[in-house]
Amino acid sequence: MFHTALLSLAILAAPAAEKAKPATNTKDPVCKMTVDAKSATAAVRGREYRVCSKHCGTVLQKDPDKYLEKDGSVKAEKK
Ligand SMILES: [Zn+2]
Repeated sequence: MFHTALLSLAILAAPAAEKAKPATNTKDPVCKMTVDAKSATAAVRGREYRVCSKHCGTVLQKDPDKYLEKDGSVKAEKK
């Protein structure tokens, strides 16, 4: 009974886990430029981040710890 419940939960959760969380950041994590909903996005650890260009997206994906906090928030947005 317990195992059955756990299994169905895992199946229900699977499609959501595959899709990256939508980007909400207002600053490019790499160059700190202002970004908006029309900006390009780069996925890092199952979450999307708005970036000004593909270049910054690549930089972000290569070294996410440099630009993101452990909880996924953008360092550039911290005051
Ligand atoms: Zn940038």
